Amino acid sequence: MSLWLETLNGIEALEVGEFDAGLVGSFEERFARLPRDAARQVNFYVPTFKAFASSEIAGCGKSAWPAVSITGPECKLQCDHCKAKLLEPMIPARTPDALWRVVNEQVEAGAQGMLLTGGSNLRDEVEYGPFFPTIRRIKDAFQGFRIAMHTALATRDQAKRIEESGVDAAMLDIIGAQDTVTQVYHLKRPVADFEAALAHLTETSLKVVPHIVVGLHYGRLLGEWHALETIARHKPAALVLVVIMPFYAPAKRPFAVPSSREVGRFFMDAREALPDIPVLLGCARPPGRAKVEIDAYAVMAGLNGLAHPSDGTVELAARLGRSVRVTPACCSIALGDEVLALDAGRDALTVDVAEFIRESGRRASQGLAGIPVVAA
Ligand code: SF4
Repeated sequence: MSLWLETLNGIEALEVGEFDAGLVGSFEERFARLPRDAARQVNFYVPTFKAFASSEIAGCGKSAWPAVSITGPECKLQCDHCKAKLLEPMIPARTPDALWRVVNEQVEAGAQGMLLTGGSNLRDEVEYGPFFPTIRRIKDAFQGFRIAMHTALATRDQAKRIEESGVDAAMLDIIGAQDTVTQVYHLKRPVADFEAALAHLTETSLKVVPHIVVGLHYGRLLGEWHALETIARHKPAALVLVVIMPFYAPAKRPFAVPSSREVGRFFMDAREALPDIPVLLGCARPPGRAKVEIDAYAVMAGLNGLAHPSDGTVELAARLGRSVRVTPACCSIALGDEVLALDAGRDALTVDVAEFIRESGRRASQGLAGIPVVAA
């Protein structure tokens, strides 16, 4: 039995998962061949230690990073996995004046930044045109207030305007299969347009953070590896991976839960393909046993950050010798906060890992001796 499999089997909280012994063995070998800096440190983002201790991911409460939609809940594309439902809980700001007002209120309430997004038109573009002067005004008025923008398929001209408006981070989903573009997104554009948008954005000084939604093709992995090749051809600041959670899929086009093994294999391929940039796992992934398996595979694949880790995952990382940090933050990967912090010199809060595991209310089955302790 490989050492990693033994370690996995020794962590009580991971017993609910079923792990592929062959895959775990291959992760162990492939991880050892990674450049040392690529996967040395892993940062876990938990909403609060207390919520984490009860194994509940409680609502994040007042967010330092509100999400604002310039179309409210409206979106023309109506993708099969979303049906615009992602926009519903966001703060609507349908006009530049409304955006200015919303940001003033949010800053007053303690926001440090925002995710700025909106529904797409039929070309998968978010129509930010009239908002750019207001975005510039916000950036000039509130020094330090950071904006992560979901750009969708930006043209070269839009990428330039986004840069000039002072946006800090540009985010977009990269799709790698034409069938997914056509069927899931209902989009009549060639898949090559996703690479073109990524190229336009990375030509600017923006911090560009592409996302790959693993299992986007109705729960199957189809274009993910092509998306990875696309991203590797450009110079993004980081890659965020999320796993499909198709709560809103129509009954006639249901989504399967992707195989954890396949997802894990893709994580390792992503790690190897992009050794020079942080690869992070965002909040979205299926719950239950799948989440436990996916999170453990993410750690073993050497990802640099995990939002809302399952029980046992922090301990696994520590036992595998990763340098572990735990940050009390809410969904910050999805909203751009952590990506912006990556090279901004703003360190995550470092905690004593052994103490954290103890406080989380879980009994470490092998005792805590041997877990590397990071000074608070
Ligand atoms: S374009 Fe975005 S908001 Fe609109 S349905 Fe698709 S994923 Fe949802």
